[in-house]
Amino acid sequence: MSYQYFCEACVRASPLVVDKTTLNRMGRQRVKDEKAGIRYRVVSRFDDGKPLDIGYTRPDGVSVRTPAGCVCSCADNNHEPLVCTGTRDHIVGGRPGSGVLDKLADQLGAEPIPEMILGYGAQVEAMVYAVLFEFDLTEAERQSWRSGQLRTTLNIHKAIVRLNKLVKRERPDLVDAEPSWSALQANLRLLAGYRNNMAHSWPVESFFQRVKWQEGIVTNILTSPKELATMIDLATQLISQLDFLPRYLGRQDRLDGRGA
Ligand SMILES: [Zn+2]
Ligand SMILES: [Zn+2]
Repeated sequence: MSYQYFCEACVRASPLVVDKTTLNRMGRQRVKDEKAGIRYRVVSRFDDGKPLDIGYTRPDGVSVRTPAGCVCSCADNNHEPLVCTGTRDHIVGGRPGSGVLDKLADQLGAEPIPEMILGYGAQVEAMVYAVLFEFDLTEAERQSWRSGQLRTTLNIHKAIVRLNKLVKRERPDLVDAEPSWSALQANLRLLAGYRNNMAHSWPVESFFQRVKWQEGIVTNILTSPKELATMIDLATQLISQLDFLPRYLGRQDRLDGRGA
Protein backbone atom coordinates (compact mmCIF):
# COMPACT_ATOMS: atom_id res chain seq x y z
CA MET A 1 0.00 0.00 0.00
CA SER A 2 1.52 3.32 -0.90
CA TYR A 3 0.60 6.87 -0.14
CA GLN A 4 1.99 9.94 -1.76
CA TYR A 5 5.54 11.06 -1.09
CA PHE A 6 6.65 14.63 -0.54
CA CYS A 7 10.10 15.92 0.26
CA GLU A 8 10.75 17.80 3.44
CA ALA A 9 11.14 21.12 1.67
CA CYS A 10 7.76 20.76 -0.01
CA VAL A 11 6.03 19.68 3.19
CA ARG A 12 7.42 22.72 4.99
CA ALA A 13 6.49 25.10 2.21
CA SER A 14 2.94 23.90 1.71
CA PRO A 15 0.01 23.22 4.04
CA LEU A 16 0.45 19.45 3.94
CA VAL A 17 -0.29 17.44 7.04
CA VAL A 18 2.20 14.78 8.07
CA ASP A 19 1.56 12.68 11.15
CA LYS A 20 4.12 12.56 13.92
CA THR A 21 4.95 8.86 13.69
CA THR A 22 5.74 9.25 10.02
CA LEU A 23 7.93 12.26 10.71
CA ASN A 24 9.90 10.37 13.32
CA ARG A 25 10.36 7.34 11.14
CA MET A 26 11.52 9.49 8.24
CA GLY A 27 13.95 11.31 10.53
CA ARG A 28 15.50 8.01 11.58
CA GLN A 29 15.72 6.90 7.96
CA ARG A 30 17.49 10.12 7.02
CA VAL A 31 20.10 9.65 9.76
CA LYS A 32 20.64 6.08 8.55
CA ASP A 33 21.04 7.21 4.93
CA GLU A 34 23.48 9.93 5.90
CA LYS A 35 25.57 7.45 7.88
CA ALA A 36 25.64 5.21 4.82
CA GLY A 37 26.92 8.16 2.81
CA ILE A 38 23.77 8.50 0.73
CA ARG A 39 23.11 12.10 -0.18
CA TYR A 40 20.85 12.61 -3.11
CA ARG A 41 21.42 15.56 -5.35
CA VAL A 42 19.23 16.77 -8.20
CA VAL A 43 20.63 15.57 -11.52
CA SER A 44 18.14 17.23 -13.86
CA ARG A 45 15.02 19.35 -13.60
CA PHE A 46 11.83 20.06 -15.51
CA ASP A 47 11.46 23.48 -17.14
CA ASP A 48 9.63 24.77 -14.07
CA GLY A 49 12.47 23.77 -11.77
CA LYS A 50 10.91 20.62 -10.32
CA PRO A 51 13.48 17.79 -10.01
CA LEU A 52 13.22 15.18 -12.75
CA ASP A 53 16.06 12.87 -11.73
CA ILE A 54 18.01 12.60 -8.53
CA GLY A 55 21.14 10.62 -7.83
CA TYR A 56 24.12 9.95 -5.62
CA THR A 57 27.59 8.51 -5.93
CA ARG A 58 28.20 5.27 -4.08
CA PRO A 59 31.38 4.82 -2.02
CA ASP A 60 32.75 2.63 -4.83
CA GLY A 61 32.38 5.56 -7.23
CA VAL A 62 29.38 4.30 -9.17
CA SER A 63 26.75 6.94 -9.86
CA VAL A 64 23.17 6.01 -9.24
CA ARG A 65 20.26 7.84 -10.76
CA THR A 66 16.53 7.46 -10.25
CA PRO A 67 13.30 9.39 -11.00
CA ALA A 68 12.64 12.11 -8.43
CA GLY A 69 10.19 10.89 -5.82
CA CYS A 70 8.52 14.03 -4.49
CA VAL A 71 5.07 14.32 -6.04
CA CYS A 72 4.28 17.77 -4.69
CA SER A 73 2.83 20.07 -7.30
CA CYS A 74 5.05 22.94 -6.23
CA ALA A 75 3.52 25.57 -8.50
CA ASP A 76 -0.01 24.74 -7.30
CA ASN A 77 1.17 24.85 -3.72
CA ASN A 78 2.62 28.28 -4.36
CA HIS A 79 6.21 27.58 -3.58
CA GLU A 80 9.47 27.51 -5.44
CA PRO A 81 10.03 24.20 -7.25
CA LEU A 82 13.78 24.78 -7.04
CA VAL A 83 13.75 24.20 -3.29
CA CYS A 84 12.25 20.75 -3.85
CA THR A 85 14.91 18.11 -3.21
CA GLY A 86 13.06 15.43 -5.16
CA THR A 87 13.62 12.86 -2.41
CA ARG A 88 10.87 10.74 -0.93
CA ASP A 89 10.84 12.00 2.59
CA HIS A 90 7.33 12.09 3.89
CA ILE A 91 4.35 9.92 3.22
CA VAL A 92 1.37 12.21 3.37
CA GLY A 93 -1.89 10.68 4.57
CA GLY A 94 -5.15 10.14 2.81
CA ARG A 95 -6.17 6.83 1.43
CA PRO A 96 -3.78 4.67 -0.56
CA GLY A 97 -3.11 6.14 -3.95
CA SER A 98 -5.15 9.12 -2.84
CA GLY A 99 -4.17 11.54 -5.59
CA VAL A 100 -5.06 9.25 -8.46
CA LEU A 101 -8.12 7.77 -6.76
CA ASP A 102 -9.57 11.10 -5.72
CA LYS A 103 -9.10 12.48 -9.20
CA LEU A 104 -10.82 9.44 -10.71
CA ALA A 105 -13.73 9.63 -8.28
CA ASP A 106 -14.02 13.30 -9.15
CA GLN A 107 -14.07 12.69 -12.90
CA LEU A 108 -16.54 9.81 -12.68
CA GLY A 109 -18.74 11.21 -9.96
CA ALA A 110 -18.42 7.77 -8.33
CA GLU A 111 -15.82 5.55 -6.67
CA PRO A 112 -13.78 3.44 -9.09
CA ILE A 113 -14.99 -0.13 -9.72
CA PRO A 114 -12.81 -3.21 -10.37
CA GLU A 115 -13.64 -3.20 -14.10
CA MET A 116 -11.51 -0.08 -14.40
CA ILE A 117 -8.32 -2.04 -13.81
CA LEU A 118 -8.73 -3.47 -17.33
CA GLY A 119 -7.80 -0.17 -18.94
CA TYR A 120 -4.73 0.17 -16.76
CA GLY A 121 -3.79 -3.44 -17.43
CA ALA A 122 -4.03 -2.89 -21.18
CA GLN A 123 -1.84 0.18 -20.99
CA VAL A 124 0.85 -1.47 -18.87
CA GLU A 125 0.85 -4.52 -21.14
CA ALA A 126 1.23 -2.39 -24.26
CA MET A 127 4.09 -0.48 -22.66
CA VAL A 128 5.91 -3.69 -21.70
CA TYR A 129 5.73 -4.88 -25.32
CA ALA A 130 6.70 -1.47 -26.69
CA VAL A 131 9.90 -1.39 -24.60
CA LEU A 132 10.78 -4.97 -25.59
CA PHE A 133 10.13 -4.17 -29.23
CA GLU A 134 12.41 -1.15 -29.11
CA PHE A 135 15.23 -2.47 -26.93
CA ASP A 136 15.17 -6.26 -26.80
CA LEU A 137 13.62 -8.03 -29.78
CA THR A 138 15.89 -9.18 -32.59
CA GLU A 139 15.08 -8.08 -36.13
CA ALA A 140 13.71 -11.56 -36.86
CA GLU A 141 11.48 -11.36 -33.79
CA ARG A 142 10.21 -7.96 -34.83
CA GLN A 143 9.22 -9.38 -38.21
CA SER A 144 7.50 -12.26 -36.47
CA TRP A 145 5.72 -9.81 -34.17
CA ARG A 146 4.45 -7.76 -37.08
CA SER A 147 3.05 -10.84 -38.80
CA GLY A 148 1.27 -11.83 -35.58
CA GLN A 149 3.23 -15.06 -34.97
CA LEU A 150 5.30 -13.94 -32.01
CA ARG A 151 2.23 -12.54 -30.26
CA THR A 152 0.95 -16.06 -29.64
CA THR A 153 4.22 -17.37 -28.16
CA LEU A 154 5.51 -14.30 -26.33
CA ASN A 155 2.58 -13.99 -23.92
CA ILE A 156 2.53 -11.32 -21.24
CA HIS A 157 4.04 -13.62 -18.59
CA LYS A 158 7.04 -14.36 -20.78
CA ALA A 159 7.25 -10.71 -21.80
CA ILE A 160 7.43 -9.63 -18.15
CA VAL A 161 10.30 -12.05 -17.46
CA ARG A 162 12.13 -10.77 -20.50
CA LEU A 163 11.63 -7.14 -19.60
CA ASN A 164 12.96 -7.79 -16.11
CA LYS A 165 16.07 -9.46 -17.53
CA LEU A 166 16.59 -6.51 -19.84
CA VAL A 167 16.42 -3.98 -17.01
CA LYS A 168 18.71 -6.06 -14.78
CA ARG A 169 21.24 -6.45 -17.57
CA GLU A 170 21.23 -2.86 -18.79
CA ARG A 171 20.63 -0.90 -15.59
CA PRO A 172 21.80 -2.86 -12.54
CA ASP A 173 22.41 0.54 -10.92
CA LEU A 174 18.67 1.33 -10.99
CA VAL A 175 17.76 -2.10 -9.66
CA ASP A 176 20.22 -1.61 -6.80
CA ALA A 177 19.03 1.88 -5.94
CA GLU A 178 15.26 1.70 -6.13
CA PRO A 179 12.89 -0.89 -4.64
CA SER A 180 10.40 -0.06 -7.38
CA TRP A 181 12.89 -1.32 -9.97
CA SER A 182 14.02 -4.39 -8.07
CA ALA A 183 10.34 -5.29 -7.58
CA LEU A 184 9.46 -4.65 -11.22
CA GLN A 185 8.76 -8.27 -12.13
CA ALA A 186 6.80 -8.96 -8.95
CA ASN A 187 4.73 -5.80 -9.37
CA LEU A 188 3.96 -6.47 -13.03
CA ARG A 189 2.87 -10.01 -12.13
CA LEU A 190 0.73 -8.77 -9.28
CA LEU A 191 -1.09 -6.33 -11.52
CA ALA A 192 -1.49 -8.88 -14.34
CA GLY A 193 -2.93 -11.41 -11.88
CA TYR A 194 -5.45 -8.97 -10.43
CA ARG A 195 -6.39 -7.73 -13.88
CA ASN A 196 -6.93 -11.33 -15.05
CA ASN A 197 -9.21 -12.14 -12.14
CA MET A 198 -11.33 -9.08 -12.79
CA ALA A 199 -11.41 -9.60 -16.53
CA HIS A 200 -12.78 -13.11 -16.24
CA SER A 201 -15.24 -12.48 -13.44
CA TRP A 202 -18.52 -10.64 -13.12
CA PRO A 203 -20.16 -8.80 -10.23
CA VAL A 204 -22.91 -10.44 -8.16
CA GLU A 205 -23.85 -8.77 -4.86
CA SER A 206 -21.77 -5.68 -5.56
CA PHE A 207 -18.92 -4.76 -7.90
CA PHE A 208 -16.53 -6.07 -5.27
CA GLN A 209 -18.22 -9.43 -4.71
CA ARG A 210 -17.77 -11.35 -7.92
CA VAL A 211 -17.81 -14.83 -9.39
CA LYS A 212 -15.79 -16.50 -12.07
CA TRP A 213 -16.29 -19.62 -14.18
CA GLN A 214 -13.16 -21.66 -13.80
CA GLU A 215 -12.47 -25.25 -14.74
CA GLY A 216 -16.10 -26.20 -14.63
CA ILE A 217 -17.00 -24.55 -11.35
CA VAL A 218 -18.11 -21.11 -10.28
CA THR A 219 -15.54 -19.56 -7.97
CA ASN A 220 -16.02 -16.55 -5.71
CA ILE A 221 -13.73 -13.63 -6.29
CA LEU A 222 -13.61 -11.09 -3.52
CA THR A 223 -11.93 -7.73 -3.77
CA SER A 224 -12.36 -4.43 -1.94
CA PRO A 225 -12.20 -0.71 -2.66
CA LYS A 226 -8.94 -0.70 -0.72
CA GLU A 227 -7.38 -3.48 -2.77
CA LEU A 228 -8.55 -1.85 -5.98
CA ALA A 229 -7.04 1.45 -4.84
CA THR A 230 -3.73 -0.29 -4.20
CA MET A 231 -3.84 -1.86 -7.66
CA ILE A 232 -4.71 1.39 -9.44
CA ASP A 233 -1.92 3.04 -7.50
CA LEU A 234 0.46 0.24 -8.50
CA ALA A 235 -0.61 0.52 -12.15
CA THR A 236 -0.02 4.27 -12.08
CA GLN A 237 3.45 3.70 -10.67
CA LEU A 238 4.24 1.06 -13.30
CA ILE A 239 3.02 3.31 -16.11
CA SER A 240 5.28 6.07 -14.87
CA GLN A 241 8.24 3.67 -14.62
CA LEU A 242 7.67 2.21 -18.08
CA ASP A 243 7.36 5.72 -19.43
CA PHE A 244 10.79 6.55 -17.98
CA LEU A 245 12.39 3.28 -19.01
CA PRO A 246 13.31 4.14 -22.64
CA ARG A 247 15.32 7.09 -21.32
CA TYR A 248 17.09 4.85 -18.86
CA LEU A 249 17.88 2.33 -21.56
CA GLY A 250 19.16 5.03 -23.92
CA ARG A 251 22.93 4.63 -23.74
CA GLN A 252 23.65 8.37 -23.56
CA ASP A 253 21.68 8.60 -20.34
CA ARG A 254 24.25 6.85 -18.17
CA LEU A 255 25.81 9.08 -15.57
CA ASP A 256 29.01 7.09 -15.52
CA GLY A 257 29.31 7.41 -19.29
CA ARG A 258 29.53 3.64 -19.88
CA GLY A 259 28.49 2.72 -23.38
CA ALA A 260 28.00 6.37 -24.35
ZN1 LIG B 1 6.77 21.22 -3.84
ZN1 LIG C 1 9.56 18.31 -3.11
